[in-house]
Amino acid sequence: MTKLGTDDNPLLIAIVGSGPSGFYAAEALIKSDVKANVDIIERLPSPYGLVRSGVAPDHQKLKQAINLYKTIAGAPDFNLIANVTVGKDISVEELCKTHHAVIFTCGAETDRKLDIPGEDLRGSHTATEFVGWYNGHPDYRELEFDLSQDVAVIIGQGNVAADVSRILSKTVDELKHTDIAQHALDVLAESKLKEIHVIGRRGPAQAKFTPKELREFGKLSDCNPIILEQDLVLNNESKKELEEKGNIINKKIYGLFSDFSKYELDSNKSKKCFFRFLLGPKEIIGNTNIEKLVLEKNVLSGEPFKQSAKGTNETIEIDVGILFRSIGYRGIPITGVPFHKNWGTIPNEKGRVTENDGAVVNQLYTAGWIKRGPSGIIGTNRACSSETIQCLLSDLEKLDTGTKKHGASEIYSKLDNKNIRHVNFDEWSQIDTKEIEIGEPKGKPREKYTYIEEMLSVIK
Ligand code: NAP
Repeated sequence: MTKLGTDDNPLLIAIVGSGPSGFYAAEALIKSDVKANVDIIERLPSPYGLVRSGVAPDHQKLKQAINLYKTIAGAPDFNLIANVTVGKDISVEELCKTHHAVIFTCGAETDRKLDIPGEDLRGSHTATEFVGWYNGHPDYRELEFDLSQDVAVIIGQGNVAADVSRILSKTVDELKHTDIAQHALDVLAESKLKEIHVIGRRGPAQAKFTPKELREFGKLSDCNPIILEQDLVLNNESKKELEEKGNIINKKIYGLFSDFSKYELDSNKSKKCFFRFLLGPKEIIGNTNIEKLVLEKNVLSGEPFKQSAKGTNETIEIDVGILFRSIGYRGIPITGVPFHKNWGTIPNEKGRVTENDGAVVNQLYTAGWIKRGPSGIIGTNRACSSETIQCLLSDLEKLDTGTKKHGASEIYSKLDNKNIRHVNFDEWSQIDTKEIEIGEPKGKPREKYTYIEEMLSVIK
């Protein structure tokens, strides 16, 4: 057989997951000097992962990344095989037979646990659930969020916590021209929330927001951002952190907190969003519904940039009606693929999947959050995927077993034999067009279909 990666013997790659890291991996392969056919397999009928169902609806600019993904999908050697779950509809073992290599770019689909009593009481939700729900993800369509409460608490001070608290703080007018799911907008329209508390276990110099996201709290039409000046007092180590030249983001964040602490309360605004620091969640109290959150006052301990939160045994309580845990994501295991239980990632060496003891697993690769953990912005995944593809392309000799592989055509026949309805990119484009059409009269960029059957029914 001719050399692998040539017109007569193209490199056949299956990518599992159609979020940013999947598309960036496809882009790197298509742009390489090797002839590659790329098949992206996606669990939902809709592609784009967190860009469609994670990025906040009021951050439409971030969704422009989709324009590039559409161009990639238009390449002649690209297939989207959507509505197909790897590990259920088709196994990793089967993909290793149909393709020369499989790249897992399936993201971090679940949340880290707080591991405190009361975490599972009614009214205590994960950020993933709420974000998925307002973004119209079919998995979360049927969830209910009781916003008839006075007080909401968000645990965590990262950008997901910023998204959740901002969506709760905004008015319907501020959201109605976004692609927020209609069912979520209807519930938010009836919200009775008066106070939103965003709780950090460390101090104001360690919050993980980015400035653009935090700045938005100063521009909300019906919500005052509130920070007590006394909460902004820093220990020496935190002062050193902020003085460090490279630490511009935290310096800006601290500056914004300072600005908010000086704002005059606008009594015309009905909501208050409190940013609170050095408070560690200890217990959620309630019978069936959550009623109170017990927080332990923390102090920081350790060198600059390595400070951790240490409890002081002194606690405070907040009456709370609804709570969101936004303390980071973790991946879920896939049958047939090594998994690092503690980190919630696939163990790997620069994208080459390894066993937990470090031994490289032939044919398997990974990129994105399932490779490195849930960090960075959309664009961070481009470099991450590119590193993986460089490793894969330097392994060509190893991947060339001399056995003929059939790629997508063999996947299609396996799925057809199992009566599994798969969706290609043209079919997805019909759903896409219809969503945009339905959104238009409402002044929305699109109205998302939130049930899989609805999406499939649109395809002609
Ligand atoms: P994150 O940035 O890692 O923030 C997690 C937060 O949870 C931190 O404040 C962390 O505090 C806290 N935390 C962790 N474990 C905790 C515990 N046991 N008790 C109390 N607090 C705890 O994670 P994320 O907000 O989920 O965001 C994930 C990634 O997506 C980030 O890179 C983020 O920037 C990105 N993202 C970007 C955007 C955007 O660009 N607009 C939007 C959404 C998400 P410590 O610092 O003390 O660990």
